[in-house]
Amino acid sequence: MKSDVAIIGGGLAGLTTAFLLEKSGFSPVLLEARDRLGGRIHTIRKDGEAPLEMGATWLGPQHKYLIDLLDELNLERIDQQMGNSAFYEYISTAPPQLVELPSGNTPTWRIKGGSDQLINTLAEKLQTTDIRLNQTVRSIQTRDGLRIETDQEVLQTDFTIVTLPPILMINSISFEPGLPDDLVQISSKTHTWMGDSIKVALTYREPFWENEKLSGTIMSNVGPVNEMYDHSDHARKRFALKGFLNGAYHATDRNEREEVVVNQLRRYYGERADRYISYSETLWRNEPFTFTEYGETVFPHQHNGDKLFRQPYWGGRLFIAGAETSNISPGYMDGAVESALRVVNQILSIKS
Ligand SMILES: Cc1cc2nc3c(=O)[nH]c(=O)nc-3n(C[C@H](O)[C@H](O)[C@H](O)COP(=O)(O)OP(=O)(O)OC[C@H]3O[C@@H](n4cnc5c(N)ncnc54)[C@H](O)[C@@H]3O)c2cc1C
Repeated sequence: MKSDVAIIGGGLAGLTTAFLLEKSGFSPVLLEARDRLGGRIHTIRKDGEAPLEMGATWLGPQHKYLIDLLDELNLERIDQQMGNSAFYEYISTAPPQLVELPSGNTPTWRIKGGSDQLINTLAEKLQTTDIRLNQTVRSIQTRDGLRIETDQEVLQTDFTIVTLPPILMINSISFEPGLPDDLVQISSKTHTWMGDSIKVALTYREPFWENEKLSGTIMSNVGPVNEMYDHSDHARKRFALKGFLNGAYHATDRNEREEVVVNQLRRYYGERADRYISYSETLWRNEPFTFTEYGETVFPHQHNGDKLFRQPYWGGRLFIAGAETSNISPGYMDGAVESALRVVNQILSIKS
C-alpha cells in the first residue's frame, strides 16, 4: 500500500494532524494500535450513568490551541463544579475538615458531553484519511521513501509522523537507520504525562455531596485517593465522583482498590458512600500503548518540549508530534494540538 503521509497513533495529536493535513489536500493513512481512537482521552459510557473521563478531563484559559480547535469544531466547555468548600485531610490523626475554597480562581473547564466528543468529532470530520485500528507499528525504515511495518501489513510513504509518547516511540518501534543518539537518550528520559496514574470513579443516583455541610471536592494527604471531584454530567442528571488513587495501588487487586476508595469516602459521607451504582478504574501503567517503564527516575514533565523533538529527521521525511513534544502546555491536550500544527507546517514548508 502507498500513501503520501502516514500518521502513527490515533490520539488527539494524530487526529488533529490528520484534520489539518486534509485541509491542505493530503489523504493520510492513520495507524492506531488500539481498537479505539483517543489514546489518553478515554471516556467510559455506561447506560444511565454519568460519562466518566478515565484520561484527560480539564482545560483552562491558558490552553489556547485547544480552545481554538474546540471552537472550530463547535464544541462547548462547561465549568468544573468545585463548590465553595472542600474536604481537606492534612494528617491521618486528625479528622477531615471542611475548608472554604478561595473565590475568583482561574476557571477550570471540561468538554461538554465528554472529552471523547473531541475525538469523535475530529474522526467524523475526516473525509480522506484512511483510519486503521488494531495496527501496531513495529518498524520504520528508509527504503524507497519510508517503509512502515505493522503486525499485519507493510506500507510505503513519503512522510511519516510519529505521535507516540517519546519513550514509547523508542522502546516499541525499531528505526532503520537508527535515530540519532541524542534523540534516543532524551526520549528515554522523557516523562509521559499521567502515564502511571490510576483514575477511579463512582457513579451515584443522587449528588448527596451537594449539601451545605458536604462537598464533592476532596484533597487528602492521607489518601489513598489524593484528589477527587464532582464528575456529574453537564445536565446534572447523572452523578459521579472521580479522582486519582495513589499509584502504589497498582500492585493490589481491583477488589482491594474498590474497598479502599469506598472506605475513604465513608470518612466524609458515612454510609451514603456505599450506595454507588458502579465503580470504575483505569490503571494507565497497565496500558502498553501508553506506558513503558523508565530506566531511571524521571520527574513530571522532564524533557517535555525538548528542541530535539521539534525538528524533522531523515532528510525531512520523519516528524515527531504528540503532547510531550510541545514546548507549549507540554503533556496536556493543548500541547498535543500545538504539536499537530507544528508538524503540518513543517511538512508544508518542505513540500513548497
Ligand atoms: C489519567 C490522565 C489524566 C489526564 N488529565 C488531563 C487533563 O485533565 N487535561 C489535559 O490537558 N491533559 C490530561 N492528560 C493528558 C492528555 O491525555 C494528553 O496530553 C493527550 O491526550 C495526549 O495526546 P497524544 O495524541 O499526544 O498522545 P496519546 O493520547 O498517548 O496518543 C498516542 C496514540 O498512539 C497509539 N500507539 C501507541 N503505540 C503505537 C504503535 N506501536 N503503533 C500505532 N499506534 C500506537 C496509542 O494507542 C495512542 O492512541 C491526562 C492523561 C491521563 C492518562
